[in-house]
Order: sequence, then C-alpha cells, then structure tokens
Amino acid sequence: MIRTRFAPSPTGKLHLGHAYAARVAHDLARENGGRFLVRFEDIDHTRVRDEFYRGILEDLRWLGLEWDGEPWRQLDRLDHYQTALEHLKSLGIVYPCYCTRREIETELANLTHAPHGPEGPLYPGTCRGLKSPPPQREPAWRLNAAKAAAMTGPLTFTDQRHGVITVEPELLGDVILARKDIGTSYHLAVVVDDAAQEISHVTRGEDLLGSTHIHRVLQNLLQLSEPCYLHHSLIVDESGQRLAKRHDALSIETLREHGEDVWNLLPSPSSSE
Ligand code: GLU
Repeated sequence: MIRTRFAPSPTGKLHLGHAYAARVAHDLARENGGRFLVRFEDIDHTRVRDEFYRGILEDLRWLGLEWDGEPWRQLDRLDHYQTALEHLKSLGIVYPCYCTRREIETELANLTHAPHGPEGPLYPGTCRGLKSPPPQREPAWRLNAAKAAAMTGPLTFTDQRHGVITVEPELLGDVILARKDIGTSYHLAVVVDDAAQEISHVTRGEDLLGSTHIHRVLQNLLQLSEPCYLHHSLIVDESGQRLAKRHDALSIETLREHGEDVWNLLPSPSSSE
C-alpha cells in the first residue's frame, strides 16, 4: 500500500509552497487508496511554537487535505534517534566534532581549496582524525562519508521525475547526524521516521534532492527499507524566489481570510510528475 507523508516544521505558518507539497503527498496516497500521514519536524526546539502546530493542522483541514492517524512529533521520538546513532557509532562511521560554527568558518577562510558541495562550503574535516577531545565540550556527531561509502558500496535511488540516480555519499561532506543540543539532525530523524511510519513514497521539494544521497547511505547502514522518491518542483514568487516563511502575504491563513482559492494559485500536482 502507498503511504506518503507531509513533514512540516512548526516554526512558522504554512504558505503556498507547503500547500503544494502537502497536496502532492496527499493526492499520491488518495489516488492509490493509500495513507497520508503528517509528521512534525520539530527538532528546532527553540523555534517551534504551539500555535504553529495547531495552525498547520487547521490549514490542512481547510485545504481539504485530511490525514490519517495522529500526527507524529519528532521531539517525542528522540530515544529512537539515539538508538540509531548508537548503531552508527558501533559501525565506526561517525565521529565526534567539537568545532563551533565560527571555528569552521575561520578554518574554511584559511584554506586555499575549501571543499564545496551544491549547497556551499563543506565541513573541512577538522575533527575527523582527532586524538584527544577538548575538555568539557559536548560534541556533535558527524558521518564519516568516505568510510560510510566504503562500507555500503555503490547505491542508487529512484525518483519519479529524475529517474535512477547514483548515490554520491560525499556530496554534502561529513554531515552532522546528531547536533549537540538535541542529539539528532534532520538527516538522521527523517530516515528513522520514514522507515518507522513505513513510508513507501517520500515526496518533497527538489531542494532536498542532495539530502537524499545521504539518506540512502543511512538507510543502508541502518538496514532500513528503501522508499521511492518524488522530488517535486518548488513554488516561487513573482520574482522567481522560492517561498519562505517571510512571505506572510502568501500564508494559507491570510489567503483563507481573503477568501482566495488556493488551488487556483498553484500548478496542478500532476505537472510535477
Ligand atoms: N521539513 C521539510 C520541509 O518542510 C521536509 C523534509 C522532508 O520532507 O524530508 O521542507
């Protein structure tokens, strides 16, 4: 059975881009007699607000995108991410990183050939071979991407729009898998939860295509099943900028108050496939 999910962060209101993403997931499930689930990606715990959790569900209901079951909250699932991290530690493919953001910036500025990925500079690997940790600092945990790649061997994933893609495990460098403040990260939590919710089709914006390379590596290392992917195009404003939380005028709440027909403002989800 097809199972999809919409995974908003309750750090702001839903806008048109979210409505589109939710509809892609919703329609794919409903058109195939499947299930459509909601998961709150709320590990950015200092930025989440109760009113956003509530508002998002109200908006989805108003949009006619009814979900199945109780929405999940990642903050309720930290012990599951911890277990996954321990497993990765036991495989020897993560390492503690004590760098502050500022230290990384300084290091990158001093390098003549700073490593770069599709989203900008990559972590320069400062802590990768660290022998003695600095005293009294909590570490973050990073994936040793090269070691992980050697362990998994070649991998691919299949995207409904982009076809079969060969995984490049080092595309985003040694990504953080567990932040020091919360013990997990987007990458680790999403992989654990997609498997736990038995998501068969992961639909999300194409800005996350790069992340899927890391997710396949993690799925393989954690022995989790491989979903199909659909990375849909992003909704942009009149100047071609992708919509963000600052686009308050395009929040679903404002459009609802103005009696707008939201679906008239958006392309049909089938044009994404
Ligand atoms: N929370 C992400 C977003 O709002 C979605 C991530 C995902 O679907 O994997 O864009």
